[in-house]
Amino acid sequence: MNVGKTRNRCGAHPPKADFMIDERSAKNLKTLHPEVAILAAKLIETAVAQGMCVKVISGLRTYEEQNALYAQGRSKPGLIVTKAKGGYSIHNFGCAFDVGIFSPDGKKYYGEHAHYRRVGEIGEELGLEWGGRWKFVDEPHFQLTRGKSLADMRTSREAGRDVLV
Ligand SMILES: [Zn+2]
Repeated sequence: MNVGKTRNRCGAHPPKADFMIDERSAKNLKTLHPEVAILAAKLIETAVAQGMCVKVISGLRTYEEQNALYAQGRSKPGLIVTKAKGGYSIHNFGCAFDVGIFSPDGKKYYGEHAHYRRVGEIGEELGLEWGGRWKFVDEPHFQLTRGKSLADMRTSREAGRDVLV
């Protein structure tokens, strides 16, 4: 895993042997739980090797960032984008991330694209839970909880323990 390197090989054909994680993904990977970061990097590398251009566009959200998102569409202007307050999203513990599909040059973002499903299947093969299977479908979302609930994670966080152990 070459996290931190900035060369962007999104969509390279054939995949380059010196593939490195793009800058945006690398920045977000650094915010994740180490186990989740490794799986996320493998997900990106595998998808890019198959000719898709995918990046990690969101990683850890602090409680404060989550509360600000929660306020949107409620006490603040904008559309409602989340049902979760701070401490009630797996993102708040660094155990979830969202991906984006981009054009082959890495510049144009697609909110909807057939590649989300293909990337979802790669994530599942790596042992991640994919939001594309949920009742309220969230195709860009992946998480690793090892059976821990949000309450377990909040308790571990408060006690200064690893949230996945
Ligand atoms: Zn998410």
